[in-house]
Amino acid sequence: MIKLTQGNILLNARAQDKTEAIRIAGNLLVDAGNMQLAYIDSMLLREKVANTYLGNGISIPHGLPRDRDLILRTGISVSQFPDGVQWHQGETVYLVVAIAARSDEHIELLANLTDVLDDPQTVHRLATTTDPLDIIARLTQPRDGGSVAVAPVEAADDFAKWVDVELSGPAGLHARPAAAFVDIARQFESEVRVRHIGKVANGKSLLSLLKLGAGTRAGIRIMARGSDADAALEALAAAVRHGLEDAAEASPSSDLVAPSLSLQARAIAGIAASPGVAIGPLRHFRRERIVVAATADDAVHEETRLRQAIAAARLQLRELHDEVKARSGAARAAIFRAHQEFLDDPDLVEATQRLIEAGHSAGWAWRQSIDERAQEVASLDDALLKERAVDLQDVGRRVLRLLADTLEEEPGTFTIPVILVAEDLSPSDTARLDPAMILGICTAGGGPTSHTAIIARSLDIPAIVGAGPAVLHQPEDSLCILDGDAGNLYLEPGDGDLHLAHQVQQQWQALREAERLACYQPAITTDGQRIEVVANIGGASEAEQAVAAGAEGIGLLRSEFLFLQRAEPPSEDEQFIAYSAMTRALNGLPLIIRTLDIGGDKEVPYLSLPAEDNPFLGVRGIRLCLARSDLFRPQLRAIYRAAATGPVKIMFPMIATVEELLAARAIAEDVRRELGAAAVDIGIMIEVPSAVLMAPELAAHADFFSVGTNDLTQYVLAMDRGHPSLARQADALHPAVLRMIDMTVRAASAAGKWVGVCGGVAGDPKGAMILAGLGVSELSMSIPSVAAIKARLRTQSLTDLRALAQRALACRTAAEVRAL
Ligand code: PEP
Ligand code: MG
Repeated sequence: MIKLTQGNILLNARAQDKTEAIRIAGNLLVDAGNMQLAYIDSMLLREKVANTYLGNGISIPHGLPRDRDLILRTGISVSQFPDGVQWHQGETVYLVVAIAARSDEHIELLANLTDVLDDPQTVHRLATTTDPLDIIARLTQPRDGGSVAVAPVEAADDFAKWVDVELSGPAGLHARPAAAFVDIARQFESEVRVRHIGKVANGKSLLSLLKLGAGTRAGIRIMARGSDADAALEALAAAVRHGLEDAAEASPSSDLVAPSLSLQARAIAGIAASPGVAIGPLRHFRRERIVVAATADDAVHEETRLRQAIAAARLQLRELHDEVKARSGAARAAIFRAHQEFLDDPDLVEATQRLIEAGHSAGWAWRQSIDERAQEVASLDDALLKERAVDLQDVGRRVLRLLADTLEEEPGTFTIPVILVAEDLSPSDTARLDPAMILGICTAGGGPTSHTAIIARSLDIPAIVGAGPAVLHQPEDSLCILDGDAGNLYLEPGDGDLHLAHQVQQQWQALREAERLACYQPAITTDGQRIEVVANIGGASEAEQAVAAGAEGIGLLRSEFLFLQRAEPPSEDEQFIAYSAMTRALNGLPLIIRTLDIGGDKEVPYLSLPAEDNPFLGVRGIRLCLARSDLFRPQLRAIYRAAATGPVKIMFPMIATVEELLAARAIAEDVRRELGAAAVDIGIMIEVPSAVLMAPELAAHADFFSVGTNDLTQYVLAMDRGHPSLARQADALHPAVLRMIDMTVRAASAAGKWVGVCGGVAGDPKGAMILAGLGVSELSMSIPSVAAIKARLRTQSLTDLRALAQRALACRTAAEVRAL
């Protein structure tokens, strides 16, 4: 049992709020040498996903399991707050018992705490005592067996049905695992009891379980009595065997099913861009009118104004970049860097100067040059490039505003929350919006990759894109319902529809909350199959966000993001710093680094790659890596060096032939030898039909496969992944694509290799279920999808998922698969 000394006790403390109280209690443990300072952050993080209020004025803050390395020595501190600290609404805490537990030495102390918890008079006494020894005595002296409501009962009370299991978690049946046990037990009607040596506890009572004092590797007997006793025993025993410690956060409810909406009202159909239901008045987005004179007398003066306006806009963009980066992360902010590059375009500036010299005002000349270029870009065939016309107009307006003679009609700020309708929203437009006032977004234009779609998803605002011009003619302030899951905007809904939509909206909120609370629980199907749920990221800062969102590692680092938005490739050292920052943030979780995947839709201007007629079928992915050892070798060197700082795997993109894989492996091995580095697993992306057909041969030379369904779908169906009118049909759930994945999994498992999926369909709830049923063991997805997919997988059995996958394979169309 651990020792509680006066140094672990703080009397008469005061805190404004729970955060301050946790910091005070945590600092006691830091000062006593029990843990590192960073473990306090872990404690605060846990509060976001679980309530550590134990009841009766006591809370037990403790960190996340993954941060256990920050604990130096198991210890407990007790801070007394005589004035109380509000933990949650209606929960006031007087004693904060902070726990840094490496093992189960604190279990007995916790058991004593639960005795205290049962007795309000003792809590009151300890909350006001001026003698630390009082607290020490009460928590460390053997229990007196006094009257407790849920005291363990004698062994004679065993039920007829039971199962014996050993606690497999590293720290016994302490608060977190016991809470997880109770959550599962409460899902069943049957009475549940747990016996440990001579005591029997109520399996649905946290207090009762804690009093068992069952430490690590302790044998316990789980007993159940009632209509669903067998199912309860099966679920509880499986959870214990999988280590309740890992399944430590609140458990999801068993009916975590995404709600769906079907209404009577007239609807405009668009492309679903961000899920959820919004109900509210429709408001059209308006930009202010910028008025400029057509002509000007003094060309020199106009040129100076132009230069000053461009410089001021550059400054604004820099500030906006830093502000958005702080608020929403580097990836969201990157677009404002790109906007700065537009301002540096010499062609654009020269064209404007020529117009000024011809007698036009700076504003008029600038507008003319921007419009011409935006029209050129908008008329391109490439859907993704088309969308960049919006960026050009956006940056153009920014400069134009600075050159304006007058600005007419300021864009409306909203006093009530609205559903915003717009032709399209530029990144600057969205950065100016107050998310609290936007219930939903519907744009006439734009595709699934438009900024509106990306930003709406990251802000968790329901959204529809590509709804067509009809939405722009709907009356202002008319009530409507937006279904971001199905992509419908319902107009003039009746009372019945509104009632239904409100119900579905509440279901969405409850679902999101439950998923968020359970995001650190592993995705284990009801029959015990674990699916690894990891994240796709593009930069170092996102690794930390991924872990905080419940990702179990990184299944795809799109390393090309490190090469974008700059003037030259990152050096080996720069890359090493970025990769090792990620391994640090991941703290032992796996990181799969995909080597440079440039070409196709991903352009890097400074590489001056020759233009290709058909870039998706050109020198992209691994073909470029093999052609450019000046890029490939430094990257491999950086990866092998970073692999010494954490578990790193290498993945090659766009492999189409065995020769490509062998050539890439040979270069990697050469680099490894040169560095004297340890070997790492080398896997490949399966994105090209030939790779599927050659999977048995490729599996002989790859440690794992990860299916890139975004590209695989476009190559299997011959539909450009960014095409505005084909994008909806280019569905990765098309049976043709699923059959390709099935072939890949079969080939891999015959060779004893694992298969993941890192294309967008892995983060689609239906897609994830079918993929798991096909035998895919790792799903890698965008960070916001992690919690939802984990929660959904936990409600399914592998047997059912396999049956679902077989039915999907037998379908004739993607629509049939989606309807399953
Ligand atoms: C894919 O093609 O599915 C994939 C994950 O790679 P990217 O989207 O980066 O091309
Ligand atoms: Mg790809």
